[in-house]
Amino acid sequence: MTDPQADAVPPEAATSDAATSHPAAADAPAQTAHAWRPGRFMVITAHPDDAEFGPAATAASWVDQGSVGWLVCCTSGDQGGEDPEQDPLELAALREREQRAAAEIIGYAGVTFLHQPDGALENTLALRELLVREIRSFRPDAVLATDPEVLFYGDGGVNHSDHRAAGMAAVDAVYPAARNPMAFPWLTREGLAKHVVRRLYLFWSNQPTARIDVTATIDRKIAALRAHESQLRDPERVERWIRGWAEDEGKAIGSTAAEALRVIVIEDDESEGPAGPEVESAEGAAAAAESGVEAFDERAASPAGSGAGEQ
Ligand SMILES: [Zn+2]
Repeated sequence: MTDPQADAVPPEAATSDAATSHPAAADAPAQTAHAWRPGRFMVITAHPDDAEFGPAATAASWVDQGSVGWLVCCTSGDQGGEDPEQDPLELAALREREQRAAAEIIGYAGVTFLHQPDGALENTLALRELLVREIRSFRPDAVLATDPEVLFYGDGGVNHSDHRAAGMAAVDAVYPAARNPMAFPWLTREGLAKHVVRRLYLFWSNQPTARIDVTATIDRKIAALRAHESQLRDPERVERWIRGWAEDEGKAIGSTAAEALRVIVIEDDESEGPAGPEVESAEGAAAAAESGVEAFDERAASPAGSGAGEQ
């Protein structure tokens, strides 16, 4: 169960650090930066802009190091406005354009919109099938999703029901459905073989266990957030908030900026060996580049009936 490439701190130490928080007062950083990196990763969100308010700088950093990322939005944010007279389909189309622009800034290889209803997302078998289809098509090593256990953010807010539903559906799709060939067997028969996702990275968690150094990519996160023009009434304020938040998380690992995530290790792969993150990075990048091509060929060759609008 030990993961040689995870943080140097044992999980319990990381957790208690997260709970007591604000190690700014301490002389030395309380944690080391999280170094494990997936060759391929998929971010699953409820709404366009969740990925940018969430782990965008981590995604950008991983992409810069050679990982291949894919973004899945369960809804297209058709309730993300204030005008009841607005056409929700027009809003959805606008938000998909904004999301694609943001995804391009971060460097995702592509985006899938599942076109589920905004404000009414539920963790149904049907949604899980759509997610399993995405996971078995793209075959990520890690899936990033909203922490489904968060109902309240401390005592400072309620987590949107869509975020909870998307997070829970993502977790359920990752384990056990995507890895079980008898779950949605028609997908297996279509050629979408079972796939083992090794890690979950949960964002907006009340109990983060890892901090990723995003000093080099925090500006890209801000730029990508600004692409969601329809959602930002005061972009300057949002930028200050995001930078302040990243700065606070960075103090824990002695960096300028960090994102905090809750890591769930599902599959501890022996083949990763005891080598350090540098070795993993080089191999991961090569493997990602190789398998990325294959997966996209498969995607392109598969029939259009994936049930999801894809880019
Ligand atoms: Zn959202």
